[in-house]
Amino acid sequence: MSAHDPNCIFCKIAQGQIPSKRVYEDEEIYAFHDINPWAPVHFLVIPKAHIPSMAQVTGEHAALLGRMMALVPQLALQEGCNPYPQGGWRIVCNTGDEGGQEVHHLHFHVIGGPRPWKKG
Ligand code: 5GP
Ligand code: ZN
Repeated sequence: MSAHDPNCIFCKIAQGQIPSKRVYEDEEIYAFHDINPWAPVHFLVIPKAHIPSMAQVTGEHAALLGRMMALVPQLALQEGCNPYPQGGWRIVCNTGDEGGQEVHHLHFHVIGGPRPWKKG
């Protein structure tokens, strides 16, 4: 699998070819605001490498996914989620058509902030 798919919108966002509101960036990971938020806080955490979905994840990705997950507490508070336990957030990873995935580049939705939310 190549590192980037030239037809993938999230590869283009991660490489800065399509503008986005950046939340976080390092060599392997990019996070940005969802264009159509469901809640007061809604951002996406993606690997810069093109992994189509969670269905392609194997042990070789464990460290990368662990790093993506471990960033969430810091980024959620930075973006305005309230502290646990009264606050908190939800992580969603839609996978495949039946899982509701629309963009086929692995992403974790991080959703939070005061309710009501549009979805969830
Ligand atoms: P999925 O349904 O695949 O889990 O979620 C894809 C998400 O990507 C949706 O919440 C949608 O709003 C978001 N999205 C799609 N295209 C863009 C875009 O060009 N920019 C940003 N910031 N978000 C996008
Ligand atoms: Zn991609």
